[in-house]
Amino acid sequence: MLLAEVEYARPSSVDEALRLLSAHEGARALAGGQTLTNVMKARAASPEVLIDLADLDELRRITRRGDGGLDVGAMATYSDLIASVEVASARPILAVVAAQIADVQVRNRGTLGGNLCLSDPTNHFPPLMAAAGATMTIAGAGGERVVTADEFFLGVYMTAVAPDELLTKVTIPSAEGTANGFAAVTIGRDGTCIANAAATVSDGRARVALGCVAAVPVVVGAVAEEGAVVDAVRGAALEPPDDVHASAAYRCHLAEVLAVRAVRQAFEGRS
Ligand SMILES: Cc1cc2nc3c(=O)[nH]c(=O)nc-3n(C[C@H](O)[C@H](O)[C@H](O)COP(=O)(O)OP(=O)(O)OC[C@H]3O[C@@H](n4cnc5c(N)ncnc54)[C@H](O)[C@@H]3O)c2cc1C
Repeated sequence: MLLAEVEYARPSSVDEALRLLSAHEGARALAGGQTLTNVMKARAASPEVLIDLADLDELRRITRRGDGGLDVGAMATYSDLIASVEVASARPILAVVAAQIADVQVRNRGTLGGNLCLSDPTNHFPPLMAAAGATMTIAGAGGERVVTADEFFLGVYMTAVAPDELLTKVTIPSAEGTANGFAAVTIGRDGTCIANAAATVSDGRARVALGCVAAVPVVVGAVAEEGAVVDAVRGAALEPPDDVHASAAYRCHLAEVLAVRAVRQAFEGRS
């Protein structure tokens, strides 16, 4: 199906993008377009104006912070994360997970910011950011604010980013003294996740974020040992969706198995 008629703007600065978003009630930011253009084609969304962020180089930078963390611009693509020397040295799990998403076309266009702003419970990055303790910088007419992953993800397709705001940057704290893992069961080899888990382990404790089992990532903490991790997942009393891909009971089972796998992967030091 062809797209419905839509106005198009390509601002050259974040300020201009914010002005355009404020000026048009039906305006929507366009990042990689890997989801937005598909839902527009399906008529599930019909923005009046697309504000294309493609020229905002300032949103595509990946920089190492003085404290050892990473600042990743919202428009950094999955391929940028995979190719980044800063990511490879500061938090390689970002590249490992980016490389698991879909195919090369999606990875060349899809952006970290788009992935998070979509807040699709089956996406790879929301649990990874929640486990890593990332913070998101949101810019609006009134200036910038920084929110935690807990405050950012509000529900299915709902985040703390208002219609006239932009996610500009994701800050991932230093990985010094931590180990990281990610495990998923997907629909087919490179498909959407049925369940996933991201783990950050430090000082013998694991922070595990579970994806696909609720509207937003579910974060649990435990001693980084198999029995304790399973108990922590059980303690979260998950009530995941029951759909054509997996029953709720099977997703609960996967959440336990994948949480343990993610912690084990962290110990094996693969990322
Ligand atoms: C075939 C296929 C398979 C896929 N498989 C997976 C998968 O397995 N795992 C996975 O995680 N993802 C998957 N995706 C989704 C893909 O990762 C999308 O790229 C991503 O979810 C959205 O990113 P985008 O940059 O394309 O954003 P867009 O589609 O351009 O935008 C998505 C939404 O976010 C908003 N937005 C984007 N950037 C900003 C910003 N900076 N500030 C405010 N709002 C913003 C847009 O207005 C829109 O509402 C798949 C996509 C396709 C087409």
